[in-house]
Amino acid sequence: MTVSNYLLLTPGPLTTSNTVKKAMLFDSCTWDDDYNLDVVQSIRQQLVSLATTQTGYSSVLLQGSGSYAVEAVLGGAIGSQDKILIISNGAYGARMVEMAQRMGLQHTVYACDEVMLPDIEKIEQRLQQDSQITHIAMVHCETTTGILNPIEKVARLALRYHKCYIVDAMSSFGGIPMDIAALNIDFLISSANKCIQGVPGFAFVIARTEELEKCEGRSRSLSLDLHAQWRCMEDFQGKWRFTSPTHTVLAFAQALQELAQEGGIAARYQRYQRNQLKLVAGMKALGFNTLLEDALHSPIITAFYSPKTTDYQFKTFYLRLKSQGFVIYPGKVSQRDCFRIGNIGEVYENDITALLIAIENAIDWENKDEK
Ligand SMILES: *Cc1c(COP(=O)(O)O)cnc(C)c1O
Repeated sequence: MTVSNYLLLTPGPLTTSNTVKKAMLFDSCTWDDDYNLDVVQSIRQQLVSLATTQTGYSSVLLQGSGSYAVEAVLGGAIGSQDKILIISNGAYGARMVEMAQRMGLQHTVYACDEVMLPDIEKIEQRLQQDSQITHIAMVHCETTTGILNPIEKVARLALRYHKCYIVDAMSSFGGIPMDIAALNIDFLISSANKCIQGVPGFAFVIARTEELEKCEGRSRSLSLDLHAQWRCMEDFQGKWRFTSPTHTVLAFAQALQELAQEGGIAARYQRYQRNQLKLVAGMKALGFNTLLEDALHSPIITAFYSPKTTDYQFKTFYLRLKSQGFVIYPGKVSQRDCFRIGNIGEVYENDITALLIAIENAIDWENKDEK
């Protein structure tokens, strides 16, 4: 059985509104003012406004998925004399470590278990012991588990020890209120297909202008040269260096408008939060357990332990839900058998209600009615 449409309960790409999809029915010319001045420059300004009310910040859009921008930031911000401390408790923290290795950046890693918050005292000790550290990088919502990492506490350390602070807020920016000036963040990275609810195709960096300037000439990658991309957008009114993802950009402009119509980030956060609480309460009632303790959950995505019954197979469960109109995510946690359900995107409380009914049907293991 095939279903023509289903809700993506996944952390990007995610379910977008019809109006966001419709915004792509236009072919833009990449050097026309209608595109660059009106659409790209407006997006860049809006992103900065969503991130802070303070001045001294700018934004850069970069083709590719979120990881491209993370790599561009690391490759631009970390000079040959610098050393970065990467805090990792999941797959996306580990990916930053892999990037640092590939690029030959001096780095050190503070890693902890995927279901635990990083220990702030231990991080502080690392900073005290290793005076060569110049930068700190961490993931805000670690989408691996859905854990919400303490970016405020690390921000205070970055400030006290004068470190440049890089935050991968890929799956949280636009869905959780934050002020990058108050958090002392120098580089914040996110992408089009997460909480802003656009479609995939580009990522973006919101950064302290002073720090962007320092990236000049550092990148060993031409396409991922953050500084060059930023200068091109600054000097040529929103021009991208290479072919820009025009349709994705139009969809993103529409998505930003819809974020404002919803009431901004605070309102969206409330909606995600309601979805997540409803989901967890309903799942617990069906006998599922969450991977994390409740206090550690973000409103973005939740990991659940797989049912213990011997009949359970993720693939069957997945297909049973898909046939009822819902697509969930496999687990990404290395040690524990889990699956994940995202709440971000064009998803509302009634969708969660319908999902819980679908899950109740799907876990009726005795009923082997599939094709
Ligand atoms: C989605 C995501 C990324 C980027 O992943 P891509 O597949 O490159 O888009 C990075 N970090 C986090 C925390 C994410 O959720």
